[in-house]
Amino acid sequence: MSSCWICEGDLEPCTQFAPAPFLACTRCGFAFRPDLDEAALARVYAGGDYEGIRGDHYLRELPARRRDARVRLRYMRPWVSRGRLLDVGAAGGAFVAEAAAWGFDASGIEPVESFARAAREHLGVAVRCSRIEDLALASGRYQAVTLWHVLEHLVEPVAKLRRLAEALAPGGAIALEVPNAGGLSAARMGPQWPSLEPDVHVCQFTPASLRRALERAGLEVCDLRTTAITPYLPLRARLDPRHLAGRAKAAYWLRDGRSEHPWGHELLRAIARRSATPRQRVDQLLGDRA
Ligand SMILES: [Zn+2]
Repeated sequence: MSSCWICEGDLEPCTQFAPAPFLACTRCGFAFRPDLDEAALARVYAGGDYEGIRGDHYLRELPARRRDARVRLRYMRPWVSRGRLLDVGAAGGAFVAEAAAWGFDASGIEPVESFARAAREHLGVAVRCSRIEDLALASGRYQAVTLWHVLEHLVEPVAKLRRLAEALAPGGAIALEVPNAGGLSAARMGPQWPSLEPDVHVCQFTPASLRRALERAGLEVCDLRTTAITPYLPLRARLDPRHLAGRAKAAYWLRDGRSEHPWGHELLRAIARRSATPRQRVDQLLGDRA
């Protein structure tokens, strides 16, 4: 029996999402599927279904994906707004294209070949077909590394975050978003929660387990919050009575009407920097006192 991918704690069946076969850590609560390995996931991605579902509507969906990218760039801007950026799991390249338009020297990697090709052919952006573990990453190369709805797909996410953290330049940041398995929707819907996607979402993060994963990877968390899905929706969907009713219900349960909350909303976002070395901390202290 394996142990927790984040804290090496013992595992038990995850009752919240049963019958989906997730295991939960008895120490940190992280839920994941150690029964899925890279080979099983590669078969899902290459098997046609995944590409078919996500790939067919590429051009029609592109304006919406660029809008998503602008929401994310606005979130990142207070912490990182220029320099070399690597988008991991770049899909069809919309974020890379939008980040370049915002002034980043942006490129991406994507494990599904047809997506990487679409990014190059339709958007002219530098997205190559690669997985994190196959990438030759130069230490200190990037000001920003982004993972938008990617971390939940990764086997052994801490080891991969650690590799990416080493590729950050001093002051550089990792920015990411995952579905929030610790929020209201996941609690209410259990195995019916639409973001569960148990065949590809190997990891189910809560605010606490995401923070722990980032820290175990040698990162310092600058910001971690949950956010409502609303900013990603087109205006018509935002004004849909069912969406408005859902938001009103969430505001009632959370006793908070704001679209951001420490644990309650559907999406979980974070910004983290590479932890300073002891030497850098001493230099900082001396600099502050000078
Ligand atoms: Zn754990």
